[in-house]
Amino acid sequence: MLLENLAYTEVEDYLKKKDIVLIPIGSVEQHSPYGLIGTDFIISEAVARAVGEAMTILVAPTIAYGVSPHHMAFKGTVSLNPNTMMGVISDIVQSFVAHGFKRILFVNGHGGNITPLKTAFKQLKAENIPGYFDVISWYDSNKVRKACKDAFRDKEGRHATPSEVSLTKFTRPAEFATKAVDQKTVAKPKYYWPLSGEEMRSVFPDGRMESAPWLATEEKGRLIMAKAVEALEKKIKEIIKLKIL
Ligand SMILES: [Zn+2]
Repeated sequence: MLLENLAYTEVEDYLKKKDIVLIPIGSVEQHSPYGLIGTDFIISEAVARAVGEAMTILVAPTIAYGVSPHHMAFKGTVSLNPNTMMGVISDIVQSFVAHGFKRILFVNGHGGNITPLKTAFKQLKAENIPGYFDVISWYDSNKVRKACKDAFRDKEGRHATPSEVSLTKFTRPAEFATKAVDQKTVAKPKYYWPLSGEEMRSVFPDGRMESAPWLATEEKGRLIMAKAVEALEKKIKEIIKLKIL
């Protein structure tokens, strides 16, 4: 159920029955020579749309761009300033609230978005905007984390992970014909956080962070996707039961 394909009259009908909307959000950032720059939003969009279809819940257009300054030393990364992100989130939430939506759930694919999202929600509440505003990342479930860990063990790492690359391989297999496949070593350097773009590139020269993305497969992506969809459906069932004040 995609908002972009509805007429406003159909949104009116939807609001007579339901008050929840899912908004996929990700990032446009390098994912090493092995992964797609769109990885984070491609995954959050695929998970949100699968859940939206299964549960007949409205899914808004994806917010592709995220807060990724630490990837800026790699070509193709596009980053929003955290303040810009908070402004975008606040405006989008208030638009949905104005139409009568009461449960606004961002389905996230990028860790760097979480603090700006939660800060924006706090600001909205400080302004007495009514409703439930939340962010759930596709990997925010013990079962999903276990599936990723079982699949790749100590090669999972922190960025350009074989799990996220598997999910995009499953979603967009044709795009991997031109990506790197060679196997390298997995380094575990000591570093502090956050890092600037140049600092990030000096610690993690090819953009991977402690990961082995060459291990990614479509089949593992299919399995992890099923777990992520199941986990999000379970959380949404709880959210739907919440009494909105
Ligand atoms: Zn990612």
